[in-house]
Amino acid sequence: MELATWTYEGPPHIGAIRVAASMEGVHLVLHAPQGDTYADLLFTMIERRKTRPPVTYTTFQARDLSGDTAEIFKDACRDVAERFDPQLMLVGASCTAELLQDDPGGLAKTLDLSVPVVPLELPSYQKKENWGASETFYRLVRACSSGWQGDSGPDAERQKTCNILGPTSLGFRNRDDVEEVKRLLADLGVRVNVIAPLGATPADLARLPGAGFNVVLYPEIAAPAARWLKKTFGQESVTVQPIGVGACRDFIAAVCACAGLPDRAKCMQERLSWYSRSIDSNYLTGKRVFVYGDATHAIAAARICEEELGFKLCGLGTYSREFARDIRAVAEHYDVAPLITDNHLDVEDAIIAAQPELVLGTQMERHVAKRLRLPCAVISSPVHVQDFPARYSPQMGAEGANVIFDTWVHPLMMGLEEHLLQMFRGDFEFHDDVSASHLAAVAPQDHSASRPVELASVEPEADEPDVLTWTDSAERELKKIPFFVRGKARRNTENFAAERGLNPITIETLYDAKAHFGR
Ligand code: SF4
Repeated sequence: MELATWTYEGPPHIGAIRVAASMEGVHLVLHAPQGDTYADLLFTMIERRKTRPPVTYTTFQARDLSGDTAEIFKDACRDVAERFDPQLMLVGASCTAELLQDDPGGLAKTLDLSVPVVPLELPSYQKKENWGASETFYRLVRACSSGWQGDSGPDAERQKTCNILGPTSLGFRNRDDVEEVKRLLADLGVRVNVIAPLGATPADLARLPGAGFNVVLYPEIAAPAARWLKKTFGQESVTVQPIGVGACRDFIAAVCACAGLPDRAKCMQERLSWYSRSIDSNYLTGKRVFVYGDATHAIAAARICEEELGFKLCGLGTYSREFARDIRAVAEHYDVAPLITDNHLDVEDAIIAAQPELVLGTQMERHVAKRLRLPCAVISSPVHVQDFPARYSPQMGAEGANVIFDTWVHPLMMGLEEHLLQMFRGDFEFHDDVSASHLAAVAPQDHSASRPVELASVEPEADEPDVLTWTDSAERELKKIPFFVRGKARRNTENFAAERGLNPITIETLYDAKAHFGR
């Protein structure tokens, strides 16, 4: 058992529904208890889909458990074949139905349906949503394209065509990323053969081997399918995700290499590079940023922070355990400790310890940052309805870089605001306890409900001789430091004092520490 208030991912059958809902002509029959239809709301409400996802739930009830639940499942399959007449049927079980061991794949086989059936094994107690989506996509690709009879040998024209793999329903900005990547590929002279699973039919999946190579946009969803296509048909994959300027250039170089074209990475036109170099962005330099999300977006964000915006990464983490190794490598490269966890309380503790000035994360980190009164931008699923915007807002490609610049800089205190805060510290409007208006219209009066970002100074207990205290005058002096760097100043001073056995911390200690770290 694990106590969980928030989960970053749903169970694996939600991933299966995402793939089914992404495609045309596919229907999922899910052996699931009454109530599991809540999943429909993710699509109709959060993604604002106009139609129900193509899923039929068996919705068995407690009283059915004394009868034949297998028969309920078989009836559902027959109904689906007759009523929806799909080109392909997926069958699987949700968590509760997994315990019944009715074996949806075996049962569907006995029905001798005229529709091809792809059975799914979704181990709900070991795996999560993204795994479920990638497993479903992999099974579908295998089932549909293994009978490929076409030509997959070397051919210059074929070499200039690719498949775009990984975008799904409920994917963070997938809708617009696909448009942006299509535009990028068209500019390079590369033709798109199939985009899958988003918008594809089973017949489209059967055509996958006809492309020269694959573009893996979201490895969390498409990596296993791309590996199988490489093993079976020798298709190479572009595994760089074009999020951020540097990554876009690497993406273009990788596409050109696969397509046999001259590298045109330098042609990319975006505004992030100039905007981040323009003088108004000076104040961004060295801002401490904590990054957390799925592996793809977290890795991309880390690179943009360090190499394109001049931020200083102070934490990097993911809930994508399958990609822990990649995150560790990037964290090592930028000299921060990697955080591999799907426990939001661990993430919150890591944010508090890292004392960032900006948090880039998921919807959960947005909540945490709000409580800690830290600026935050959302970079990855899970997300709420506001991150399925009506406007065009990709993360990938040139326009994605522009969107990222605006989104990440927007929550920060503007340079002028920072300046005013220092100059008019006693001002009724620009004082330390007022946060930017978009974070809170009125500064909360009762700070006891929120967890402090700074290390709290506490009175030493008799049996805790090593706890550092601050004299009142030192505390007052510390408060003169602007709040967005005060946490760092406090931490540095306490480390300085602890190393030298200085307790309590006085104004002199504060200034000695400042001189020490300023050298
Ligand atoms: S079957 Fe799984 S998803 Fe459905 S209610 Fe039970 S635990 Fe939740």
